[in-house]
Order: sequence, then structure tokens, then C-alpha cells
Amino acid sequence: MNMQASRLAPSPTGALHLGNARTFLVNWAIARKNGWTLCMRMEDLDGPRVKQGAVDECLQTLQWLGLDWDGPMLVQSNDQGPYLEAMEQLCSSGRVYPCDLSRSDIASVASAPQEGVHETPFPASLRPPTAGTPIPFDPAGENFRFMVEPGIREIDDHLLGSSRHDVHAVPGDFVVWTRRNAPAYQLAVVIDDARQGVTQVVRGEDLLPSAARQTLLYEALGLQPPEWWHLPLVLGEDGHRLAKRHGDTRVSSYRAHGIRPERIIGLLGHWCGLTTEPEEMTIEDFREGFEIDLLPSTPITMGREDDQWLRSG
Ligand code: GLU
Repeated sequence: MNMQASRLAPSPTGALHLGNARTFLVNWAIARKNGWTLCMRMEDLDGPRVKQGAVDECLQTLQWLGLDWDGPMLVQSNDQGPYLEAMEQLCSSGRVYPCDLSRSDIASVASAPQEGVHETPFPASLRPPTAGTPIPFDPAGENFRFMVEPGIREIDDHLLGSSRHDVHAVPGDFVVWTRRNAPAYQLAVVIDDARQGVTQVVRGEDLLPSAARQTLLYEALGLQPPEWWHLPLVLGEDGHRLAKRHGDTRVSSYRAHGIRPERIIGLLGHWCGLTTEPEEMTIEDFREGFEIDLLPSTPITMGREDDQWLRSG
């Protein structure tokens, strides 16, 4: 039997809130129940957004909740080597090209974004005439875009079923190397999942469109894509995904107020369908009670009563 592996991949760009915590807990439980290896990876390449102290806070919060992982943590910013190699491969096969167009240059040509689409698509008409030609990789302060061919990509997801994605239309040729001279998220994730031996990606539903983009990169690099598990998100009462404007739902803040991990796991367990009402539980209770089939297939809404329940314990 092939070894299966998943990963926890936090970004130290903000504190871990209850929505992120639920995704990590579900990832942990699926991995532990199935005997997968669970890697840790700190996704700290988004330089300007990385917050001082957020790496330690995130790791401590996950450990305080009772999560564990296997092997040493991979820190993306430690070594650019693997990303540079991938770029050399993509450049020499003519799959990427440098592009110095600004966001407003692109917006002035692109058609108005469709409803629900927050990105400005990059129309293929903006490709330079040299796109597709093998080039040496020279990261000289420009973005590099990956050429997306027309076609529909089908993604089979263990939690969401099958979905179809027109990556050529949205987002079109996407950035894989940024003008800050760092790999973009899409490239970094593919390279890291491949080198960490990740076969199962469990993460929030907001990243489902990325699964289609990442599949194209896996193929261009001759790598095997993982299996996908995208989990419906936790939303605030206004229907938007949980964020600062919904109040302070950081796990570390509840902890600072003396709320115990059993209480938090209890609420997350309720959100995972383990109980009909929130009930305190240990992480072991969660692991034992957790079943994929119990997971609600639609987003969870965090109401004021959930916060009150946490604080009343
Ligand atoms: N680091 C990303 C996040 O915290 C997750 C990326 C991924 O799972 O592919 O949202």
C-alpha cells in the first residue's frame, strides 16, 4: 500500500481563528483516523503580510488545542532552491513568460468580472508575442505567468464532489513568480506538496479554484496531483467568511480569557456534526467521534450564541 500523507499549512499572516482551527482539526482527524502521515508547513512567503510572532503563536495554539504532526516543520522561506528549479523547468519548456503589466493595465483590457469572481482575469490577448518560447529563468523584478490553454478542468473532491473549472477564462494566465522575487502561492504549494510527499490535501473550500490551477502546474512539471478534500467554511452572521469584522474569534484570545481547549473543541465538534448542541469534548473524544459522513455539506454560520457558549464555560 502506498503511504498517504496530508499537511497542515498555516499562513502566519494573521492569528488562527475558529474557522481555521476547524479546518486544521478536521485535517488532523482525517489523517489520524486513516493512518496518514501529517506534515507541518509554514507558508510564510507572502512577505509583506507575514506578522511578527504569528508563526510561534500559530504553532502554540495548535498544540494547545492538542493537535500534533509528524516530522520537522518545513518553512517555505528557508530555501528558494526547489522553487527556482521548478521555474527553470517551466521556463525551459516555454510554459511561463515574464509580464510587467500592472493590475490596472490588465483591468483596462479585461471584461468586467462576473458576479462572485473577485479576480481580474488575464485575457490571452495580453500575452507577449514571445510567450511559449523556451527562455532562461532570469527573475529580474517581473512577474512570470503560467500559460493556461483553453479547456475545462474537472476536479473530483472527496467532500464536495465533482466541479468544472475554466481556468483559461478565470483567472487566465496566472502568476507563478512574483516581481518581489519570490514564488507565488500556486507554485510554492505544488512544489512543497510534491516534495513533502503529500497525497491528500484537506483545506477550506475557498481554495477549490486553486485545485484546478495547481493541477495544471502538476501536469506541466510532470508531477502527480494529490487527492482533494475541500471543507465548507465557517461564515459570520452576514454570510461572509469569518474574519475580524465578526469580532475577535481568535483561538488565542479565547485562551487568554481562560477558556479551555475542551470548550473550543466542543464547539468545533458541534460544527462537524458530532453533537446536536455544543458539548465540551477532548481532542481524543473528537477523534473517536469524527466521521466524514457527519460533516455538514454546507457552510457553518457562527452566531453570537456560539461565542456566548464558549465564554460561559
Ligand atoms: N496557507 C494557506 C492558508 O492558510 C493554505 C494553503 C493550502 O492549503 O493550499 O489559507
